[in-house]
Amino acid sequence: MQALKGIAISPGYADGVAVVYDYETDYQFVCPDRDILPAELGAEHGRLDDAMEQSQSELDQAEQSPHGPADLADSTAVLSSHAQLVQDIAAQVKQHLSRKLVNVEQALDSVIGTLVDRLCQIENEYLRAREQDIRDVGRRMMRHLTGSPRFPFSHLPEHAVIVARELLPSEAVELSRAGLAAIVTEQGGPDSHTAILARALGIPSVTGLVEVTSQIQSGMRLLVDGEAGKVTIAPSAAELAEFSTSRANYQRTNAAMAVNETLPCVTRDGIAISLLGNIGRPEEAEQIGIHNLSGVGLFRTEFLFLESHERPSFETQCDMYARAANVLEDRPLVIRTFDLGGDKLPPFLASQRSGPQPSRHLRGLRFSLAERLLFETQLRAIVQVAQTADVRILFPMIVGSHDFSCAIATVDQVLDRLDAPRRPALGAMIETPAALFALKEILELADFVSIGTNDLTQYMLATDRRAADLTDECTAWHPAVLRAIQRVVDVAGMDCPVCVCGEEAGEPGFARLLIGLGVRELSMTPGRAAPVRQALRSIDCSTMRELASQALCCTTPGEVRRLLADDRD
Ligand code: PEP
Ligand code: MG
Repeated sequence: MQALKGIAISPGYADGVAVVYDYETDYQFVCPDRDILPAELGAEHGRLDDAMEQSQSELDQAEQSPHGPADLADSTAVLSSHAQLVQDIAAQVKQHLSRKLVNVEQALDSVIGTLVDRLCQIENEYLRAREQDIRDVGRRMMRHLTGSPRFPFSHLPEHAVIVARELLPSEAVELSRAGLAAIVTEQGGPDSHTAILARALGIPSVTGLVEVTSQIQSGMRLLVDGEAGKVTIAPSAAELAEFSTSRANYQRTNAAMAVNETLPCVTRDGIAISLLGNIGRPEEAEQIGIHNLSGVGLFRTEFLFLESHERPSFETQCDMYARAANVLEDRPLVIRTFDLGGDKLPPFLASQRSGPQPSRHLRGLRFSLAERLLFETQLRAIVQVAQTADVRILFPMIVGSHDFSCAIATVDQVLDRLDAPRRPALGAMIETPAALFALKEILELADFVSIGTNDLTQYMLATDRRAADLTDECTAWHPAVLRAIQRVVDVAGMDCPVCVCGEEAGEPGFARLLIGLGVRELSMTPGRAAPVRQALRSIDCSTMRELASQALCCTTPGEVRRLLADDRD
């Protein structure tokens, strides 16, 4: 009888029973901080090793647990990436223990705190959301260290709707295997790993519900509407009837979408559109086949650097890029060189105290050119893998022909040194206003370009990409950003393929607009591709061209949205 309105982060409908998981009050660890003597170091290392082993074997077991319908590549990828994180975090905790002479719980707390703080400052939503994984692994290790009890994940009632302040990624995986029907939380954004998983696993989720764990008690009947972001507590007969109608409509549309996913992405007037995926880890390449995409349009490689306490070696990187390329077989893999610097500093550089560090204030490609050794090692690994696979290189934050030429020259040197005959295609990201004023020169050098609307929007409109929301005037829907995209398409002409790989490419309405502007390649989070395919299969390019030319004359994003909405009515 009471309806709560939150943010829909994973679509779908569930009629179930509440299970309140109040981790913060029911499962808090008791871990007094204390200083230790040098003689105690060995014993503390031993306790850490035990906690590391127990955490890893728990993750291994979960990975091998019986496969249910929810067992997609995504959940396995989360568990195996957490197993790797356990090792990396344990290595950092050991260093901290020896340096500070504190007990292992305090050292773990401090290492997790530092990593989380660093990730939280990052502008990129996708990367920032990875702090959840760090806290998840930290929580697991701390539980083993303190011998604390565990939430009984495998004993859920039928149609359980978990109600929590926040659900961490590995908890979502374990609960999904126990038959979880929906997730209702206080916090956790749409880019959080839990949200990505919930979408991949088909679990409806609503977040942003303040103090939800005290408003709902275990055992209450809940209706979860993951489309509207609504949770109804103890529903009336009328609410139930309305819910059933919406759920039936959703199931019909979803069934049509699933059929559509196997069909080519071609507009009604026969224009083929290439739909590609954005990934951040090699495991995610599995999603390309699952969603029938043409390849990877953007492999963000920052993770490997941001999560590692030492410089990732040539071998480690070859393995990572080759794993993604192997999954894709002959589909293209566009690898973006690391977009680091500024707010995104890897731990092995952030902890360097001695000597001047000119790269600190640089971003994107200019950071890479200043950190030459790091850059060359990455290029060597990419070039090596590109000898036997369709691997292309994309450079971030290009500001003109000068930095782009320096990057190209570095690739050529690497090719020479490796004596590698095959030069991968080289592309420029167009995501700075400066690049818009150097388009001709950049396009003369580029084999392809990719428009990063996330950064382009924030730099053109003087906004903070973290703060932007749908109602905000400062979004990629702003006519100024649309004119910038149009200009790239016009200058590129037929000679240079143009892709759009910012988040908005995965929004069906915006994708229609992009087609009208002449873009023929869109790269997005793979889980968002089905509705985009559905939308593009139902448009005429010629109509969209007309609509896009009207959008270019608008003055606000609101006008553009209304134009698109009117067209659909
Ligand atoms: C962009 O800026 O649009 C983009 C795709 O790059 P990132 O989100 O990684 O900065
Ligand atoms: Mg960017």
